[in-house]
Amino acid sequence: MDAKTDTVTLKHFIAGQWTEASGGATFDVLNPLDDSLYCKAAKGTGDDMRTAVAAAKTAFNEYRETLPKERELWLLRVAEIMEQRKADLLDCLIDEIGSPIGKAMFEFDKGLTMIRAAAGLCRNVRGETIPSDVPGKFSMSIREPLGVVAIVTPFNVPLIKTTRLVANALAVGNTVVHLPSEMAPHLTLLMAEIFHDAGIPAGAYNVVTGMGHEIGDDLTGHSEVDFVSFTGSSVVGQHINEVCAKNKTPLTLELGGKSPTVILKDADLDKVMPLAARSIFMFGGQLCIGSSRFYVERPLYDEFVKRFSMAASKVGMGDLRDPNTVIAPIISERQRLRVKTHIEDAVKKGATIAAGGEWEGNRCQPTLLTGVKEEMTLCKDETFGPVTSIYPIDSYEEGLEKANDTVYGLSSAIFTNDINKAMHFAKHIDAGMCHINGPTVHDEAHVPFGGNGESGVGREGTDADLEAMTELKWVTVQL
Ligand code: NAD
Repeated sequence: MDAKTDTVTLKHFIAGQWTEASGGATFDVLNPLDDSLYCKAAKGTGDDMRTAVAAAKTAFNEYRETLPKERELWLLRVAEIMEQRKADLLDCLIDEIGSPIGKAMFEFDKGLTMIRAAAGLCRNVRGETIPSDVPGKFSMSIREPLGVVAIVTPFNVPLIKTTRLVANALAVGNTVVHLPSEMAPHLTLLMAEIFHDAGIPAGAYNVVTGMGHEIGDDLTGHSEVDFVSFTGSSVVGQHINEVCAKNKTPLTLELGGKSPTVILKDADLDKVMPLAARSIFMFGGQLCIGSSRFYVERPLYDEFVKRFSMAASKVGMGDLRDPNTVIAPIISERQRLRVKTHIEDAVKKGATIAAGGEWEGNRCQPTLLTGVKEEMTLCKDETFGPVTSIYPIDSYEEGLEKANDTVYGLSSAIFTNDINKAMHFAKHIDAGMCHINGPTVHDEAHVPFGGNGESGVGREGTDADLEAMTELKWVTVQL
């Protein structure tokens, strides 16, 4: 199998076959480093999506009967083949979406863990026995797969999202139709090839490439789709929520963030500084859980700004294959404009650039802003670049209040040795995730990952996906 018919044109993967778009059209995928052509991909149509959903529906009838030991073996083979094809996957992450090698390796390692954790899920699709008030009645619940799961993923972590969500859906007996980001179709198709080569039956995992705004509704609004897992911006998430409501299709939404880090006066800056940089600059700030707000208690504020500015100026912006490189190109012209506008708007309204602010090609320097006020767009909106604001606070209570002053609620962090304040923060921060003395950027295969408010609905991870992507059925036997 090969994801490409020649070196540049990708096809859909439907019912175990490489398939051209029904209209024959393609679209360009650009390398974000220099906007050169990376590849072309099939520009899917509504008909392609309906064909893929029909394939997944047909495959479900047999796939749901597969044994845990079969699915477990297939998924473990996926991990083995991923290791054999590591170089292809890393090259793709670097050249298709501009991942520096460190971030590509991070995704690869996480991806392997996600697949192996999903393999362990196959044997855990369990119900329970339930005491009955009726004499002689044996009562139980059994857990069943839902059917066809639609998965829509963003550009920034395509390997993590594919390994986690597709593998968890398949582990518990569902079949999948996947619409990857139009900016990252190749990575997903490489994984489709790997799933296929590992033995996953034809039709169990289908990938349709194309423009989400054109063909997304044909997937998420399809009456034969039984569950939708969406990761992306809050605006598109809101739209998908409305589309799914029409069919009462259950869903999880993993959306944007404006994650805060609070640093109290007793924190050890020697320990905080490397973690602060990791929180926002990894992959050029294009991570949903990146910390775009730092609240620092007054006694540490000046020192923190000074040390963070120095650290920012040293963050690597070299060759993407150099392990010292951290800063990635911003993915698209539209997104670059957003980052530029956020910085310009803040400066125009009185903010100070403590570090960065300039561009080198398609890469924005690591940028720190002080004096950010409510009326500046980047104060409240997601920037999705290597840009963060630093605010002084006079007390822990002020830090908590400011951290909660957002419509988002994804990740959060607090640095302190005061266990009482740390645990109070963990309880009262309105966010799906809270890390005490650790960066906002953290993820593991089996944790409940997700956010509140504009950051989403539901959680993902092995246990959360098991619950979300299956349903309980109550069964009784009158003895
Ligand atoms: P995006 O919302 O532009 O696109 C995400 C996906 O939605 C793409 O595959 C796109 O094709 C598709 N899409 C667009 N319109 C659609 C429609 N009408 N129906 C169905 N699908 C449609 O997001 P992006 O720019 O690719 O990614 C960045 C965003 O994703 C950021 O906001 C980031 O915070 C968020 N994100 C969240 C998480 C998380 O786990 N919470 C993880 C990664 C990224």
